[in-house]
Amino acid sequence: MKTDKLKENPGNFIRDFIVEDIAKNRIKEVVTRFPPEPNGYLHLGHAKSICLNFGIAADFNGRCHLRFDDTNPANEEIEFIDSIIEDVRWLGFEWGDNLHYASDYFETFYAWAEHLIETDNAYVDDLSADEIRKFRGTLTKPGQASPFRKRERKENLRLFRLMAKGEFGDGEKVLRAKIDMSSGNISMRDPVIYRILHAEHPRTGKTWCIYPTYDFAHGQSDAIEGVSHSLCTLEFEDHRPLYDWHIEKLPVPSVPRQYEFARLNMTYTVLSKRKLTLLVDEKHVGGWNDPRMPTIAGMRRRGVPAAAIRDFCARIGITKAASTAETSYLDYCIRESLNETAIRRMGVLDPLKVVIENYPSGKIEKLLAKNHPKDETRGNREIPFTRELFIERSDFMENPSNNFFRLGIGREVRLRFAYFITCTEVIKDVDGNIIELRCIYDKDTKGGNASDGRKVKGTIHWVSVNESLTAEVRLFDHLFKNQEPELSGDEFLKEINPNSLKILENCKLEPSLSKIKLNETVQFERQGYFCLDIDSTENNLVFNRTVGLRDTWTNQKTND
Ligand code: ATP
Ligand code: MG
Repeated sequence: MKTDKLKENPGNFIRDFIVEDIAKNRIKEVVTRFPPEPNGYLHLGHAKSICLNFGIAADFNGRCHLRFDDTNPANEEIEFIDSIIEDVRWLGFEWGDNLHYASDYFETFYAWAEHLIETDNAYVDDLSADEIRKFRGTLTKPGQASPFRKRERKENLRLFRLMAKGEFGDGEKVLRAKIDMSSGNISMRDPVIYRILHAEHPRTGKTWCIYPTYDFAHGQSDAIEGVSHSLCTLEFEDHRPLYDWHIEKLPVPSVPRQYEFARLNMTYTVLSKRKLTLLVDEKHVGGWNDPRMPTIAGMRRRGVPAAAIRDFCARIGITKAASTAETSYLDYCIRESLNETAIRRMGVLDPLKVVIENYPSGKIEKLLAKNHPKDETRGNREIPFTRELFIERSDFMENPSNNFFRLGIGREVRLRFAYFITCTEVIKDVDGNIIELRCIYDKDTKGGNASDGRKVKGTIHWVSVNESLTAEVRLFDHLFKNQEPELSGDEFLKEINPNSLKILENCKLEPSLSKIKLNETVQFERQGYFCLDIDSTENNLVFNRTVGLRDTWTNQKTND
């Protein structure tokens, strides 16, 4: 248990800060939060943040809140709230009573906005969004004050109240913090803190037509909830002075500290909600939970265990340096996890019929097979053996090369858990395609060992022709052709891999797979890990390949 915990929660610079804060008595309790905006499904980058926040809270006996930063009703939907709740829970984390919404604090935010006006720290601006942008200056050029910056306090208050009442249209006026238009930090050049948006909010309905900006709501929500360590990605580093400014100017009940870490990027995919939304909206994928998507819902549907995602997040760690993790490394973590937990089954993806001529027709022999090679507690199952079988087409070669140890004419191989067979004849159709193999079996090799001690080099998988299930199997490849589609900016859609989904129909599976549950991933021996897809019906089984067996990550590393 202890080592498990260590494996999932290795040290990092943020933990070091917390240890120091505790040692110096700066905080009483460690409180973190995961603060998604409900405008999309969670992805692997969010998983990194979830594991960090919930992991830290658990390690320091604190608590972690799940808080929806739902301040922008334009893009937010209940569907996203529900999916986020489901995904965080599925990842293995619990927030107890601490499910919060920034929208629960809208009254407080409003009062605090008035407080800023009353203390001459905020003003109503009539400039348009474009004008505000132009006046803001650049990294090398200071900003320019808005002509409305000098508005009287009273007038600001009156106008702000009218904004809240719905007297103005969207974008007609905004409330801005009065900080410093010549600050070297652009975030400090009088940021907008309230804007008019006549939109229905998923939770507050039509109560409000003005909404706080993320920058105004975020830190204050943390303060209201008593968050001690507000952990966010590096792009918010520049916002920290603003976050601290608000905390200083407002009568907040607690003072959180913000710490930044590098966001996760992955090869061959994108981890930006905006880009993932485009993939969904433009139907490049089947939805947010398409198994090719780097979303939690997509990975779950593909058969990835939550433990593998947690393990991956722990292994990549938390740093300040931006980096791109390799998708093959995630696959490696998935394989590591499933190798231990997944039961074994046999499935033939590209079937070739084998007739065992010296085996009685009509006979069905139940052969015992281990469910897991290393874990006896997983038990056994029976597999029906019959005269007609399917083997994998690629396990036969008419003219085998020297390093091919599987089936060929006159060659003997072991059928997994069954018998040795020798191929005697190849049957072809009129076009010369191989359609069937004739073989003989040795009845003294039952269970896979010859009584005379003779050895065979190859062991292949198989299923019975009549006693098998037919299924569709979906194989997935990277969603993008390019290793770093993020670098292509808005051109990223041009990098989509047109062959990211391959559908195999007519795959043959051992009959015990009819009992498999939706969220259980199994190993098809010698093939990879597979799970039943939600598209399955009683008459049409669909399996997803979670990941193949071949490890490209360690191979790549050792070849370097
Ligand atoms: P995106 O940039 O994809 O739109 P976001 O940051 O806007 O993502 P939020 O819902 O605001 O999405 O994110 C919730 C939390 O998850 C934030 O604290 C954010 O820092 C973190 N997060 C988002 N993307 C990543 C990532 N790629 N790596 C690590 N943390 C991330
Ligand atoms: Mg965000």
